[in-house]
Formats: sequence, C-alpha cells, structure tokens
Amino acid sequence: MLTGTHETSKMLQRAQALKSKLIEFRRHLHSHPELSFRERETSKFLISILSGLNCRLRSGVAENGITAEFGEGRTVVVRADMDALPICEQNKVEYASLNEGVMHACGHDAHMTCALGAAMLLSENPPEKGCVRVLFQPAEEAVNDEGKGGATLMMEHGAIDGAEAAFALHVWPELPVGTIGVREGSLLAGCDSFTITLRGLGAHGAFPETGIDTVVLAAQVIMALQQVISRRKSALEPAILTVGGVKSSSFAPNVIPGEVVLVGTIRYLSKSTQDLLHREIENACRIAETFGGSYSLDFTCDAPALVNDPRLTGLVRESCAELLGAAAVIDVPQAMGAEDFAFMANKLPGTFFLLGTGIPGSQRTLHSPTFDINEDALPIGAAMLADCALRYLRT
Ligand SMILES: [Zn+2]
Ligand SMILES: [Zn+2]
Repeated sequence: MLTGTHETSKMLQRAQALKSKLIEFRRHLHSHPELSFRERETSKFLISILSGLNCRLRSGVAENGITAEFGEGRTVVVRADMDALPICEQNKVEYASLNEGVMHACGHDAHMTCALGAAMLLSENPPEKGCVRVLFQPAEEAVNDEGKGGATLMMEHGAIDGAEAAFALHVWPELPVGTIGVREGSLLAGCDSFTITLRGLGAHGAFPETGIDTVVLAAQVIMALQQVISRRKSALEPAILTVGGVKSSSFAPNVIPGEVVLVGTIRYLSKSTQDLLHREIENACRIAETFGGSYSLDFTCDAPALVNDPRLTGLVRESCAELLGAAAVIDVPQAMGAEDFAFMANKLPGTFFLLGTGIPGSQRTLHSPTFDINEDALPIGAAMLADCALRYLRT
C-alpha cells in the first residue's frame, strides 16, 4: 500500500510506465560494456537519449563523463557510474556481454539506467524551484597513472561545483526488490593501494652469500604485514590488508633477483585506522633494511571511507517509505567494499543507498561472472533518485 503524498506515489507510477524502456536501455548497456576510461560508446548512447530531454547537457566532462541539468537555482547532484569490469560473463542470457572479457558485473549498467529514468521523470516534471544535476561518471573501478579515478576527475572538471548535496545508489543483490538499504554515518570502507619495492643484490642461486636475497625479504615482509591486522590494531576497528601480487625482477630457479615488487590493498573505516595501517606497513618494510636491503613504499587513495550525511539519509528513508512503504526501508550494516562517490561525499553532504535487486534463490554477487539483477528494480531506482533530489530541493 502506498501511504505517501499524491506527488510521490505518482512518481513511482510514472517510473513504472517507463519500465520497458528502462529494461531496453539496461540490456543495451549490459551487452555493450566498456572498461574504465574507455566508456566512449556508453557516453554516446547516453547522450543520444539525454539530448532528446528538456535539459542543459554537458558532455566530454573528464573525457567520457556527462552532466544533465533540470531546472534552475539551488543545485542537487544525482550521480551514476558508467564503467564495467575485466570479467568474462558466464550468464547465458540474450543480453549477455558482446565485448569479450568485459562485463557489467558491478551493476553500473543499472545505475546509468536508473539515472536515465530519473532524467526522463525530471524532464517531464522539472523541479519548480532549484536544479537537479544528473551526473554520469566514468572510471569508478580504476584509477589512472596519476592515481585518479572518475569521481576525482569529474570534480576537477567542475561536475559538483555549486552543488549543495549529492545522492547515489548501488544495486545490492543481498536485498530483495522493493527494498532500499540505508545507513547514517559510515557505510563503506576507505581503500588505498600500496606498492612496495624491495631492493637487494642479485646473485647466483648457488652463492646466496654474495647477494641480498629479495625473495626471502619479500617473504618476511609479507608475513610481517599479516601481523599488522592481527597484532597492531584493535579488534574493535575493522580493517583489511591484502597482498594481491608479487613480482620479481628475474624468474629463474637459479637466479636471486635484485628486486621484488609487492602490490596490495588496505580497507578501513576511519582516518585513524588508515594512519595506523600506513605507519605499520612502513615498519614491516624496514625488515628489508635489517638484512641489508632497501625499500620504497607508495600509497594511492582509491576512495576514502564513505560517510553518509544523516539529514540526506533521512530524506532517503522518507522517499522510500512513501514510494514503497515503511517496511521497505532496511537498515544495513557497514561493508568493507569501497566506492569513489566517497570523494564527492567528502566535499559536500552526500548519501549512498542500496537498491534491492536480489533474484530469489540465486547467488549473484557483485564482481562475479554470474552477476545479474532483477530488472523490476529499475523503475524503483529511477523514482527514488528523482524523488530524493526533488525532496531535497523542497527542504
Ligand atoms: Zn565494483
Ligand atoms: Zn560498483
């Protein structure tokens, strides 16, 4: 039963009327996925639809990004991400990826579709007062050589300039369709990548005493890193440290390499834990010096911890309760995933909510080759984005 205002319940009806169009958009995007920083055809497709709407359109923002503005005055941002992942899709569906080895396995096809749906709703009924800026952001899943991802680059190109607040959603397979996951405060983890280069002295495998063995140093550093989480950090502060790759400068059974590079990721929920991890990783690296080697250590921040603004999150709760009923609002726990929307939410009040897209009886986890969504969620996501933005402008 809908308990909301006339306007709000009409919003969901209007979104439901767009459902077949939204499914068509999502399936087109799903079958034509593009990797981070290469979303050219995706951008063209979005422009082909947005250019038919009653909006101020700006394309080529940080190359493939787009903004579309509806109305004038105080501005609120609605953000969707555009990129796919280097995963080979295993789903046998008619809309499966046509781009070998690339897949929309994080649901960004659905995010773009929900934002397109919101844009269509706003084009029909623009805000009476204020402006909604719908923002399509490339490269959420990766960073460039300078360590910058799409959110940072879009912000450098003015995408959130003059805006007061920002909303974004993410598809969530663990929640059933017709529900929305919300959380005030800390929702997702901060994520930094690290690169450790260990330098020793290359030597013959039969004469280790003439060199400084970087493979042994790497083994010691990796084991010391495992103790950062278990021994150096309070059990009440969640954090993760993963060494994801090890590469030596030579690869032969009888050669001691002069250099080994380790790459990894850390996840944390607070700045103090981030600082502690940086400090302790550096301490682990010093083992190399103890044994005559040297090291260099570099961090890049892929996304800071995502902290939801309580007032905006309250508006999401209201929207959801009115559109879908009070029982549809689900309080969700923190998760150790990361999202670069956090860069925007660090600059202005923002909130990130989870759109229930679960398919009953099947496990469709994000970033897996069998990921898929229940498409009944598309009009709900569109109505939620449009309604949250308009609701904010009415406050
Ligand atoms: Zn992802
Ligand atoms: Zn994602």
